[in-house]
Amino acid sequence: MRIGIVGGGVYGTAIAYFLKEIGDPEVVLFEKDSIGSASTGKSAGIVRHHYSHEIQIRFAKRGSEILAELPDRLGTDGGFHQNGYLIIAGEEDEAQFRHNISLQQTVGVDVELIAPSDLDEYVPGLRGDDIAVAALEHDAGFADPYLVATGFARKAEELGATINTNTPVVDLEVEDGEVTTIQTAEDSHSVDFVVNAAGPWAANVANMVDIDLPLKRYEAKVAALSASKSYSPEYPTVSDIGQGLYAKPEGTGDFIAGGMEREGGHEPLADRTDLEGVTNTDFEQLGAMIEHRLPRFADAGVVEPWSEFITAPPDWHQIIGIPKTMKNFYVAAGGSGHGFKEAPGFAESIAEDILGETPSNELSAYHLQRFEEDNLFTGGYSDGSRS
Ligand SMILES: Cc1cc2nc3c(=O)[nH]c(=O)nc-3n(C[C@H](O)[C@H](O)[C@H](O)COP(=O)(O)OP(=O)(O)OC[C@H]3O[C@@H](n4cnc5c(N)ncnc54)[C@H](O)[C@@H]3O)c2cc1C
Repeated sequence: MRIGIVGGGVYGTAIAYFLKEIGDPEVVLFEKDSIGSASTGKSAGIVRHHYSHEIQIRFAKRGSEILAELPDRLGTDGGFHQNGYLIIAGEEDEAQFRHNISLQQTVGVDVELIAPSDLDEYVPGLRGDDIAVAALEHDAGFADPYLVATGFARKAEELGATINTNTPVVDLEVEDGEVTTIQTAEDSHSVDFVVNAAGPWAANVANMVDIDLPLKRYEAKVAALSASKSYSPEYPTVSDIGQGLYAKPEGTGDFIAGGMEREGGHEPLADRTDLEGVTNTDFEQLGAMIEHRLPRFADAGVVEPWSEFITAPPDWHQIIGIPKTMKNFYVAAGGSGHGFKEAPGFAESIAEDILGETPSNELSAYHLQRFEEDNLFTGGYSDGSRS
């Protein structure tokens, strides 16, 4: 079987790796720029397991297990650092929060509730007087998404996959619901199977086979910050559900904070020229959130701001599987602003599925049909919640 993968982000590269690790199909990956050059390379790389659906927790957990195994699997640690994840919520979100924590405990995530009055012990100055509930995930952390994607690509190549960079896929030829040929700007490639892992361009690639994926793109914005007080690499990453703020250690004493987002539309994406970047309004929003939750770091200055497109369906969870009008066109997209951590877990199950094995974790909840059947997979907190 000859499998073509469109996209060299963390999904495309991890799927290439698992296909070669589990079976021995011929794998050819096409990346229009360089490996990890889009959402993956701009990701904050936070790894946590706080979700409202058991299956999503399972994928996140499998993702973090695989990240911890990377030195053995790939010969690189992918920058995975388990500093923990401290998540807090107000009264309005308390019931959902407690539900998510007990679900996590059911599937074996190492998480415990902690007293809001004790937050300061974990991150000095972290304000807890206006929150109702807090929890610490001990085995969560962050990784370097660029290192992870390039590590998967390198290992897939060692196992026999062909990785083509600077090679945009410009068309897919279809006969009888089957993609027969991948067209790049230079060549034609006969294939038996195609995986669409094109991230923010996944809707464009699906349009090549006349499928309209219900994906919208958003611009996720973050900034690396430096304050007079050090944000130690050993402090846990903080997530404030009420404000939508997150902060994770960066380097030896700085931190990356984010939570700002812009809706960018449904129409196909030509390039990145309509990226807005981090605006003064975003900086004001970020500054206000930090001042409120982490006042000890309120004098932080911006070291580097950046933004990148992410893509999400209406329920903000991945679309995985073969659309019903196709036979050999597999979609793996829509991980939005939380898809990095689950990518290794999904990639393993996707590879098993493509190779005709039983997936380690059940994928059916992620099928495209859920939107037609109005059977959405919405997070428990609010519309647009990724948890
Ligand atoms: C600022 C930011 C912060 C984030 N923070 C986190 C976080 O803390 N934790 C987390 O879990 N997730 C986070 N995410 C989300 C996560 O990064 C994404 O869900 C994930 O990287 C998506 O990977 P992907 O492989 O689907 O897409 P991408 O990385 O975008 O890869 C798709 C690739 O396809 C290529 N491509 C597209 N069209 C074609 C074509 N026609 N031919 C050939 N190649 C093509 C593109 O060039 C691109 O390299 C964040 C994202 C951003 C932007």
